[in-house]
Amino acid sequence: MGRTPIDDVIVVGGGIIGLSIAREAARSGLRVRLFEKGEVGREASSAAAGLIGPQIGLQRDDPLQSLGLASRDLYPAFAREIAGESGIDPCLLERGTLVLACGAGEIEEIDRQAAFHRSLGLAAERVGGEALQRLEPSLGPGCSEGLHLPRDWSVDNVRLVQGLGRAAERSGARLQAGTRVDRILVEKGRAAGVGAGGERFPAGAVVIAAGAWTQEIGGAGITPPPSHPVRGQIVCLGPAAAPCRPLYSHACYLVPRRDGRILVGSTMERAGFDRQVTAAGLAALTAAALAIVPALRGAPFHSAWAGLRPATDDGLPAIGPASVPGLVYACGHLRNGILLAPITALVVGRMLRGEDSGFDLARFDPRRFAGAAREREDG
Ligand SMILES: Cc1cc2nc3c(=O)[nH]c(=O)nc-3n(C[C@H](O)[C@H](O)[C@H](O)COP(=O)(O)OP(=O)(O)OC[C@H]3O[C@@H](n4cnc5c(N)ncnc54)[C@H](O)[C@@H]3O)c2cc1C
Repeated sequence: MGRTPIDDVIVVGGGIIGLSIAREAARSGLRVRLFEKGEVGREASSAAAGLIGPQIGLQRDDPLQSLGLASRDLYPAFAREIAGESGIDPCLLERGTLVLACGAGEIEEIDRQAAFHRSLGLAAERVGGEALQRLEPSLGPGCSEGLHLPRDWSVDNVRLVQGLGRAAERSGARLQAGTRVDRILVEKGRAAGVGAGGERFPAGAVVIAAGAWTQEIGGAGITPPPSHPVRGQIVCLGPAAAPCRPLYSHACYLVPRRDGRILVGSTMERAGFDRQVTAAGLAALTAAALAIVPALRGAPFHSAWAGLRPATDDGLPAIGPASVPGLVYACGHLRNGILLAPITALVVGRMLRGEDSGFDLARFDPRRFAGAAREREDG
């Protein structure tokens, strides 16, 4: 961002990332205007399952490790503050997550995971046999070994996004739904606002948090980070009494909501901007869920939906300044946008204030794609 002091900012995109940033910026005294092309919070951020699980599947040298863990640590206060500011409780469920092994190869994998987590000083308990059944009595016979991650949680992301919208407005941010931003205005080599519907909206800085659509928003001399959608389908069952905490297996995950619904997710598909639920998606997720929790056989079907996860070309988010001063990207959070919302808001808020982000964000630098984009243009 540089050190140019600004007193206002435009945020493009009203998903969890844009809303969290708008709230953070407004709380620090900036005038904030957020543009959303559709309805606030209705895209990927409402379609998600709400896992706050940085330890799930954590690999050695995972570039997201420190951001993910730091963001999880922020969650209890974040959820409490949003509930207090908005009156909408996002229902943070702090019962841990159970990663299940179904088959010999997977048992070795969770043993490796347990040892790795402990080497980092992270809480992780190997549970099997009767202890596993006591922890989660609903499990079917195929799941006899597991890894309990007591600090990986879940949140009701639909309520969280609703609460964030209200909290951002109460902090002074102006949310404008139904307004598609067409381009970023650049004046004297600096981002100076946005253009939407033939109008110009000036601002001292612009943050693009437009999810899977980020690449569509250009401007003079601007190379947006590449973005594409990755469809995820969810089947919702219930009300049902089990499971009582999130269960995660290689085939699917199950996430209970406070009202008794059980979300079963999720597919990872390259299907363009098509948000349809498919017969194959429904069948595969339902079969996988029933194998893990057979008692769900009698559960009523509640609903099903699909959402578009925002991905970049290397699967990592783009968080930070663009090559044009005054422009910041916060996009490409793929499977982790709910988890990473609090930390993304914190670091982008610091950048907007001209402060150090406090994290090594080199791997997420939005400018890392510029070389490839130039080659595409030349070729
Ligand atoms: C099925 C599924 C399950 C998931 N489960 C989890 C999970 O358990 N845990 C987790 O951490 N993450 C999960 N995710 C990922 C998470 O949902 C995303 O990473 C996150 O929602 C991204 O937030 P966002 O604000 O960047 O994008 P979005 O929520 O998509 O918001 C972007 C917004 O920008 C708006 N926009 C786009 N272009 C413009 C424009 N030109 N002008 C104005 N507005 C514009 C869009 O309309 C949209 O509302 C899941 C996703 C899916 C689909």
